[in-house]
Amino acid sequence: MEKERMLGLFLISRWMEDVERGNPELVSSAVYGYTYEGRNITLLKLGLENPEGREKKVIWVDCGIHAREWIAPAFCQWFVKEIVHSYSTDKKLEQMLQNLDVYVTPVVNVDGYVFTWANNSTRRWRKSRSTPPPGSSCYGVDLNRNFNANWGTVGVSFDSCSNTYCGRSAGSEPEAKAVMDFVGGMLNKTLCFLTIHSAGQLILLPYGHPEISAPNYDELVSVGKAAAEKMEKVHGMGYTVGTSPQILYPNSGSSRDWARLVGIPFSYTFELRDKGEFSHLLPEEQIQPACEEAYAGALSIIAHVHDKAFSSGSLPNAAVSGLALIIWSSVMTVFLSTGVLSLTRHSSHEMTANIFHILFGPFTHREIEQQGASGSQDTEEGDRSRVNEGRLQRVRKRQTDERRPHSNQASHRPSPRGATVTQWHQPADDCQTRQQVCCTVCGCDSLLMKDM
Ligand SMILES: [Zn+2]
Repeated sequence: MEKERMLGLFLISRWMEDVERGNPELVSSAVYGYTYEGRNITLLKLGLENPEGREKKVIWVDCGIHAREWIAPAFCQWFVKEIVHSYSTDKKLEQMLQNLDVYVTPVVNVDGYVFTWANNSTRRWRKSRSTPPPGSSCYGVDLNRNFNANWGTVGVSFDSCSNTYCGRSAGSEPEAKAVMDFVGGMLNKTLCFLTIHSAGQLILLPYGHPEISAPNYDELVSVGKAAAEKMEKVHGMGYTVGTSPQILYPNSGSSRDWARLVGIPFSYTFELRDKGEFSHLLPEEQIQPACEEAYAGALSIIAHVHDKAFSSGSLPNAAVSGLALIIWSSVMTVFLSTGVLSLTRHSSHEMTANIFHILFGPFTHREIEQQGASGSQDTEEGDRSRVNEGRLQRVRKRQTDERRPHSNQASHRPSPRGATVTQWHQPADDCQTRQQVCCTVCGCDSLLMKDM
């Protein structure tokens, strides 16, 4: 079972290594943080050298903040794959990659994601895996309520057993802090922040608090609607555009809101398929279409941002000074904390998704064995050792960070040159898919019906 648990992460990690090794002119990687349990939080950076040597701007894309939303990490991989496969024949894309560096994190909540692979009863875990606060036995924090944006004011719970538990304080969780530290270190050049979730078929824009409006709200809406139109053209699926209070529910402490609050002009949450029928357990046949339409939407936004920055000039950026931001944020937090604290509605629709079957082809038991053999993670003892080592790493990193201006100076590993072309699809073999494994172990009905 431990091998099963590590398989999802193993496949993504191996894919990241392959795509970097196979495309050294375009792709590099960096570890920019560590999870509560000490796992790496890794991004892929996609960008070409600017022929005129100009400073490049940044686009941020992250997936997998909520552990059970498996379509999100799948999208991040699809997004990278599409760019890798098409940039050399697509002049517009090539130009954008000469002006922009696109930072893609396939899985932010790595601990939670690993936990969802453990067994059917953990498949719908949403939060991180930090240990319970004193007096509680409930693990985890909703990382998308832990960012420093009107934290704790609306649409959250202070009950650690809740799925929307916002943590002890803004940025108390290492995963949220890693994103804030890394992106916060390059605010002056970051134009766009896309964070990918499921489900609901929504494009959400700032802010989650009903009493705050983004200064460029109208433009955020029009750019979002243009993306939704592009998405609908792919497979006919409709996506609704608006703020979270308008079309979903009020919330606070989201990464999307944090990004806009600190001055990134374009910030969106994508809630991918579907509208509730299967929700987080998206059927296998919908995985690729969902990724295809989301790619069209993301590219639409990125192209708008690029053209605005590099063709016609000024963005509404934002570049709020650090002091002004802190003052404003504090004032707003005090003001908003007097408002009503409401619990978010929560989707209870869940379903299964065999993303890797689509992305990689079926995996094999041999791969599982290789994964188990590659380390000591397949025992609880090994896991504990690794976790302890991870905590040590965090301490060491904290000590190192104190000597650095920003933690986003994490070193980029150089890509080995002359490597073979990326192997995107794993070889199809006589093997069981993840879905089949789940069904074999405890039955598809129980997988669909059982609640957390
Ligand atoms: Zn989510």
